[in-house]
Amino acid sequence: MASAAPTSEPDDEPTEETALETARRQLDRAAAHLDVDPGIIERLHHPNQVHRVSVPLERDDGSTAVYTGYRAQHDSVRGPYKGGLRFHPDVTEDECIGLSMWMTWKCALMDIPFGGGKGGIVVNPKDLSVDEKERLTRRFAEELRPFIGPTKDIPAPDMGTDSQAMAWFMDAYSMQEGETQAGVVTGKPPVVGGSKGRDTAPGRSVAIIAREAIEHLGWDLEDTTVAVQGFGSVGAPAARLLDDYGATVVAVSDVNGAIYDPDGLDTHDVPTHEEEPEAVMKYDAPQKLSNEELLELDVDVLIPAAIGNVLTEENADDVKADLIVEGANGPTTSAADATFEERGIHVVPDILANAGGVTVSYFEWLQDLNHRSWSLERVHDELESEMLDAWAAVCEEVESRDVTWRDAAYIVALERVAAAHEHRGLWP
Ligand code: GLU
Repeated sequence: MASAAPTSEPDDEPTEETALETARRQLDRAAAHLDVDPGIIERLHHPNQVHRVSVPLERDDGSTAVYTGYRAQHDSVRGPYKGGLRFHPDVTEDECIGLSMWMTWKCALMDIPFGGGKGGIVVNPKDLSVDEKERLTRRFAEELRPFIGPTKDIPAPDMGTDSQAMAWFMDAYSMQEGETQAGVVTGKPPVVGGSKGRDTAPGRSVAIIAREAIEHLGWDLEDTTVAVQGFGSVGAPAARLLDDYGATVVAVSDVNGAIYDPDGLDTHDVPTHEEEPEAVMKYDAPQKLSNEELLELDVDVLIPAAIGNVLTEENADDVKADLIVEGANGPTTSAADATFEERGIHVVPDILANAGGVTVSYFEWLQDLNHRSWSLERVHDELESEMLDAWAAVCEEVESRDVTWRDAAYIVALERVAAAHEHRGLWP
């Protein structure tokens, strides 16, 4: 069921650039700064493979539903494909391909030995019972089994999936393989080969990078105000850690809206999505806002950490933050990005800021392969050091080429991926 050429979904919104178009445009932007063989750039425009599977599910009422699932495998020149699996009604083939390209750059930027993959099922997980989610995840694992494995392609959680889904996925794969293969997915609960600190790692890296960017801009953390869209696995740990670092987190939100306190929220007291879903608006705060209003708050730092495409040409002129740190994947459209560049608003890209997730996934994979678990302290120390290395590499490009942080991050990543292609060559 592999198709080499990406297809467009007929009911895609015609006006909005797809993740694939954005990913290709960013690749070309970075390539323009580098002297890379055009043949390599051409190869990187295309995913190596895209698997499309039908996933049948017996619903609780005894009826059968069939869902479409994808796994896009963009590039593996630096190592096995790596990236999340999302359960979301808007999943498309093109989105998976675009996101798999971002994973290639994210892994290269972090200098971890993985390529880029991404997949998902077109389904709203809120419409499924826990038992249905388990059956769907297990069957998806079985459909993808020929294409994945600890040395081939290692999925992970993403939007709509969590550590429990990864445990089911690992179990289904292992049962069929006849042996426990913990390294087939990451983001598992620590009792079944997961890493300590994996659940909060994307948010932790957002906070570390925000802290570094604030320092780079010569600001004082104690005088810095922050608004965070999304209070789930990325936004909540990011908000709490920045709060601990001394910043003032004035607003956080979930799907229902935002809470705002100009004097700063007690972020540890507001329940995260994992602690109590959709509880943000129930929290007693001086003001309630919409998610749109949160994005336009007069703060120093804005962290969009919920979903993609929230900063668009419609609201880019109204954003008042001076620094945007991307917690979600692809929260800024290309049009908004151009506006921010023009307005002198600094943007730290997703492939750097939220890369703590895949970095601790790498630590998890190492722990699985070595059958030896790391302490939380070791995970935090090594994550901090990996993030600082990547940040330094990006800053070096910013300074030497006078480019944005986003372009610099892509340049670092593309340089590494292209060099690997150069050395390995084209077979046959
Ligand atoms: N889904 C996460 C991301 O977009 C994590 C991927 C992984 O850990 O493999 O970075």
